[in-house]
Amino acid sequence: MKAVSVFPGTQTFKILEHEAPRLSQPDQVMLRMLDIGICGTDREICSFEYGTPPGGYDYLVIGHESLAKVEEVGSAVGRLKPGDLVVPTVRRPCNHPECRACRSGHQDFCYTGDFTERGIKEAQGYMTEFVVDHEQYMNLVAFDLREVAVLVEPLTIAEKAMALVFWLMQHRPPWIDPELPGGERGRGLNALVLGVGPVGLLGAMILVSAGFETYVYSRELPPNPRIDLVSSIGATYISTQTTHIEQLREQIGNIDLVYEAVGHSHFALEVLRVLGINGIFVLTGVPGLQAFIEADPARLMHEMVLKNQVLFGTVNAGSDSFASAIRDLDVFMKRWPAAVRTLIAGRYPPEQAFELILGRPTGIKSVISFGEVGGEK
Ligand code: BGC
Repeated sequence: MKAVSVFPGTQTFKILEHEAPRLSQPDQVMLRMLDIGICGTDREICSFEYGTPPGGYDYLVIGHESLAKVEEVGSAVGRLKPGDLVVPTVRRPCNHPECRACRSGHQDFCYTGDFTERGIKEAQGYMTEFVVDHEQYMNLVAFDLREVAVLVEPLTIAEKAMALVFWLMQHRPPWIDPELPGGERGRGLNALVLGVGPVGLLGAMILVSAGFETYVYSRELPPNPRIDLVSSIGATYISTQTTHIEQLREQIGNIDLVYEAVGHSHFALEVLRVLGINGIFVLTGVPGLQAFIEADPARLMHEMVLKNQVLFGTVNAGSDSFASAIRDLDVFMKRWPAAVRTLIAGRYPPEQAFELILGRPTGIKSVISFGEVGGEK
C-alpha cells in the first residue's frame, strides 16, 4: 500500500510501497485512512528539522492529523464496529514504570521524553492507506462531521490550552463565578489570538464561544479569506502591518489572555510585554531555529510579578481534549458552518503531498485524501 514517507538519513522523501498491517492483538482495530491534514510539523519533518523513524526503519511515514473509517475489529473490541468514523490520538506512552503521566494515561504530559508520536517520532504515521492501532486510542466521530473531522486533532491543541485557562480563571481571580455556564466564562474579558493558521482560528472559535471579546492579530492584510473568517465568527482582526504591538493595549484595553499559535519566538516575547494585569499567556507554537535576540529579562520578570501574570506552554493532547474537540466542532459547525468549511482549503491525492507540504501554503488546511472524497473541495 502507498505510504508518504521521509528518509531523514539521506534527506529524501517519496511515496513508497509499505507492507499493509494486520490485526495481531484482540484489542486492535484496522483503519482505512480517509483524510490526513498537513501542518507546520509536517513541513519541519520534510525539511529534516524534526521527525524520527521507528526502530528498524530508515523512513518515517508522515501524517498525524487524521480521520479514518474502522475496517475490521479484533475480538476484544467493544466500543467500535466496522464502518465507524474515528480520529486517532497522536502520542503513545513511554515504557518507563516511573512515568506517572504515561502510567495514568496522560502521555501528553510524559516526563521522560521517550513517548512516541505517530507520523512524528518513532512511530509510523497516518498518510497511508491502512493503519492498525489499539481501540483505546480511537475517538469516535459522528457521521455528520465527516466533512470536517480532520480538524479535530488541531482543535485538540486549543482545547487542551483552554481547559487550563478556564481552570486558572476559576482558581485565580476568585471573583469569577465558577458556576458560570460555558458560553459566559469569558464574558467581560479580552482575548488576543496570535496567528491565523488552523490552530489559531479554531482557538478563536473556542474563545468567541466562551464569551471573550476576541481579537486576532497577524500580519495578513485584507482582502484575505482568513480575515473574513475572523469577522464571520464575531472576532476582530488586527494586522501587525497597521497596528504596532504597543498600540494593542489602547485598542483592546486590558489584555486578559493571549493565545499564541504562530511559533515565532520574537513576536511572542514582544506581545508578552503588553499582557494585562492578571493576564494569562499560552504558547502553543513550536518554533524552528530562529535568530538570537537580545531580551530584557529583568523588565519581563518585574512586569510578570507585579501584574500577577501566568505564562505557560502546552503540547499534544489527551483523550479528554479529543472528546471536547469533537463536541465543539459539532457546535461550531452548527453556528458557523461556512467558516468551519473554509478552514479546509482542499482535498488532494497523496501524489501531491510533498508539493503541498513544501510549497507555499495554498489555503488554510490542505488535506490528503485516500478516501472516497477526492479532488478540490
Ligand atoms: C502535533 C502534536 C505533537 C506536536 C509535537 C504537533 O504538530 O499536533 O500532537 O505533539 O506536533 O511533536
